[in-house]
Amino acid sequence: MPPGSTPDQRDPSDAAALRDSELRLRAILETAVEGIITIDERGIIESFNPAATKIFGCQAAEVIGHNVSMLMPSPDREHHDEYLAAYLRTGKAKIIGIGREVIGRRKDGTLFPMDLAVSEVRLAAGGRIFTGFVRDITARKQFEQQLEQLARALEEKNKELEAIVYVASHDLRSPLVNIQGFSRELAKACEMIRTRLGGAESDALQRAGLAATVTADIPEAIEFILSSVAKMDTLLSGLLRVSRLGRAALKIEPLDMNRMLADIAQTFEFQLQQAGAKLTVGELPACLGDATQINQVFSNLLDNALKYLDPGRPGEITVSGRNEDGRSIYTVADNGIGIDAEHQGKIFEIFHRLDPSAGQGEGLGLTIALRTLERHDGKIWLESTPGQGSRFFVSLPTPPAVSHSK
Ligand code: ADP
Repeated sequence: MPPGSTPDQRDPSDAAALRDSELRLRAILETAVEGIITIDERGIIESFNPAATKIFGCQAAEVIGHNVSMLMPSPDREHHDEYLAAYLRTGKAKIIGIGREVIGRRKDGTLFPMDLAVSEVRLAAGGRIFTGFVRDITARKQFEQQLEQLARALEEKNKELEAIVYVASHDLRSPLVNIQGFSRELAKACEMIRTRLGGAESDALQRAGLAATVTADIPEAIEFILSSVAKMDTLLSGLLRVSRLGRAALKIEPLDMNRMLADIAQTFEFQLQQAGAKLTVGELPACLGDATQINQVFSNLLDNALKYLDPGRPGEITVSGRNEDGRSIYTVADNGIGIDAEHQGKIFEIFHRLDPSAGQGEGLGLTIALRTLERHDGKIWLESTPGQGSRFFVSLPTPPAVSHSK
């Protein structure tokens, strides 16, 4: 517009260009995926595009003319006027021209994370407006959180794996050292035979010496070597079993634990009789799990309860259960030898046995139980008093309530 002219006198081509530019701007505002909100210097909303409506859940008519602070939670809500006044006074921007992550407030009061970028436009007629570009980043934040959780889980798994490798290699070394030691003994025995055969001893002496080596030293060394090899074999197949656990497919279904425990109890009947122990199973809630693997967990707990009974008193083993906050919690209690506090965490480690000479076992049962339950979104923990007994707790998800109404 030439200086001094009024709107009525402006060149028709200027007016058309202005209208076109307005149309273009409106099209951008209407179709932008980002929420675009303009406010004046007092923070009053002047425009609110459809994407902003979608993000904040309120219509343009509900917010235009109101303070933009209505789209923020406390304390920004109360302080926004001050922020704006401070910026206008000092020119020091915290968001304008910088952009950052803030929290937005929807019409229904719910909060969400958003990316906010603000640009400032000085109007030719004086004053200025601020345009806010808003993007709801809830989904991105969720992904970030999931990623963080995964990274943490991965780190934990890595640490566990390191611990397994450490313990396993430590345990595998001891039979190896035996094999090495007794192989040397064998070599020595052979050397002795050789010297004796080529020596000047009388026949009788030679025969007696050879007999001792062949009938005692060599078979003893061979026996130790064979038992160490068998030990390594047990350890390696145990490792294999644990590693397979992570790969076995799970068939998760509601489990009738009363039936499962009745079945397990039956398989233990003979051992219970032999040990003169009594098993009591209470009413148990159902849970979600893979039947075979959960059966293995409880069989193992019962097996341990029996194995580590105190021979000095009649054994009593009790299985009970309850529901708590969507979880089914089972307890396998015994009045056995118990476990002292400092060893309670260790017993879940692979191959860890408090007393390697006590009962038969590989030190794998609880490792397998722990891993199985981890894969089931389950947990296992214990309370134990040495000399009194132990209580192992297992927590598993409760199946959603089944409606019987037809
Ligand atoms: P295993 O029974 O084959 O040795 P587990 O992993 O099942 O292996 O148990 C590890 C160790 O935890 C056992 O060697 C034993 O020392 C201890 N333990 C497990 N259950 C009990 C229990 N109910 N009472 C006392 N000690 C137990």
